[in-house]
Amino acid sequence: MLPACQGETVKTKVLVLGAGMAGISAARSLNQSGLTDFVILEGTGRIGGRVWKVQFGGKTIDIGPNWVYGTSDDNPIWRMVETYNVTGIDASQKGIKVRNSSGHDVTPQWHTVLASLDEPSEAAYDLAVERNATGQPDMPLRATLKLSGWNPTASMEKAVEYYWYDMYYGEKPDVSSLLRGELNPTTDMFGESEYLITDQRGIVYIIEQMAESFLAENDQRLKLNKTITTIRWSDDGVTVTTKDGSRYTVDFAIVTFSMGVLQSKSVEFVPGLPDWKREAISRVHMVSYTKIYLKFPSKFWDDDEYIGYIGERRGYYTVWQNMESPGVFLEGTNILLVTVVDDEARRVEAQSDEATQAEVMAVLRNMYGAGIPDPTDILVPRWGQDPFSRGSYANWGVGIDDEELRKLQAPVAGRLFFAGDGTGPHFGYLHGAFFEGARVAGAIATCVGGGPCEEGYQPPRRGCTCPAADNFDSQATVDNGSCLYPTSGGDRIVPFSTSFYIMGVAAFTFTDMM
Ligand SMILES: Cc1cc2nc3c(=O)[nH]c(=O)nc-3n(C[C@H](O)[C@H](O)[C@H](O)COP(=O)(O)OP(=O)(O)OC[C@H]3O[C@@H](n4cnc5c(N)ncnc54)[C@H](O)[C@@H]3O)c2cc1C
Repeated sequence: MLPACQGETVKTKVLVLGAGMAGISAARSLNQSGLTDFVILEGTGRIGGRVWKVQFGGKTIDIGPNWVYGTSDDNPIWRMVETYNVTGIDASQKGIKVRNSSGHDVTPQWHTVLASLDEPSEAAYDLAVERNATGQPDMPLRATLKLSGWNPTASMEKAVEYYWYDMYYGEKPDVSSLLRGELNPTTDMFGESEYLITDQRGIVYIIEQMAESFLAENDQRLKLNKTITTIRWSDDGVTVTTKDGSRYTVDFAIVTFSMGVLQSKSVEFVPGLPDWKREAISRVHMVSYTKIYLKFPSKFWDDDEYIGYIGERRGYYTVWQNMESPGVFLEGTNILLVTVVDDEARRVEAQSDEATQAEVMAVLRNMYGAGIPDPTDILVPRWGQDPFSRGSYANWGVGIDDEELRKLQAPVAGRLFFAGDGTGPHFGYLHGAFFEGARVAGAIATCVGGGPCEEGYQPPRRGCTCPAADNFDSQATVDNGSCLYPTSGGDRIVPFSTSFYIMGVAAFTFTDMM
């Protein structure tokens, strides 16, 4: 007897795989361009992906993002915050009180050390600008800081560095990219202001509003609880299979899974993705950033927005946020937040909440004395262990240059498109996911509408790129030093790099003018 068929079989034009910011942005853009023949498949029972809220201690808490980076109208997230009146506070200036392991207030020393990081961090930026302009390769941020004499050995220096860099990149300067980190398009385009969302609808409200703008109630184009297990692709199209046995056959699919999910191989690609795509994906760092919320019977901590802890171990419960500081939650909420990243975040995720609470309380008792109460509740999100995220956000590793970006963004066989917070220049940000979703939707709509179709990644073609040369190759993207130039006597100057040629011409012109 044949086994009973399970699931559904659907044919449509486009599949959007994942209903986080990138997926909803892609589907919305497809819809706006008149391409309404799509289905969104999402593994969980909700939309939003890493943008998510939970109820904790009587409040709605965002356990994913809640900062908007850049309050400029060019930032689509900021525009939506304004449109939907999403409440929050200007978080650009951060007040901080710092205590050491004996509970002493060491805030003045903190500010002195923080000020001493100004010069090395400015030097890092200048070096990034120079290396970028002169085409020199990337290097680890750590190496640049060292060049400026920043060698943190004291606990205070390590804590300052962690606060300044690790809390942002989600990992140490040792592995963070100088060029990508310092020459950040987000700051260039949207400015340095930050907005902390405290809205009780959660930041996911923005994504819900985006979805409502093109999906009707119970719209059959959004399918939740559909865990994708296999993606079969060819030059002719894509077939996706889900855990419940459903099959979806389409002309184009947009994969919006996080880099952590793609690296985990929990979804099988048949045939496997080409090497250039796999290599590029494997170079992106999926960092861990864990916000631990604590609810206490009463408030005993400082009133400042941030509280710093200077302990022996680098990154060990160093950065705290007072959730009762003005504009955040009301007094009497008694909620404190401590954030850990990288190794500490992975370690905390792997242990029990009881073990984490014991560690946290030991630190708080160092700062505020033995008499403080235990929390009544603790919340430890586990983004790294969640099979639908496998980490918190993408941080590009050292050496991810424009060529690697092209590989991350390029479709496979002109059928399988990739979008998410790891595939674009605004990597690791919510607005980056928004832009990437819109980008691939635009590429597909153009192709379907009869415009040019993106086929896939083309490796750089080496050849002579100088139009003045006899053997100029108009298709070449990288000069290989093979240019042949006519001389007055008809002889040739043989293999000669274009850059030397240009330098020579420039030098000649300059000398002539003197
Ligand atoms: C703790 C934390 C703090 C952050 N802070 C900020 C911040 O303050 N500001 C900021 O700008 N950004 C922040 N970010 C980053 C931001 O959340 C992400 O950049 C953004 O949400 C990524 O959206 P996405 O659509 O690319 O990916 P995702 O949100 O991961 O969407 C992918 C979707 O695919 C689904 N999926 C995965 N696997 C499968 C499968 N096999 N089958 C079906 N569906 C699947 C997932 O469930 C998910 O819905 C933070 C992230 C975290 C976790």
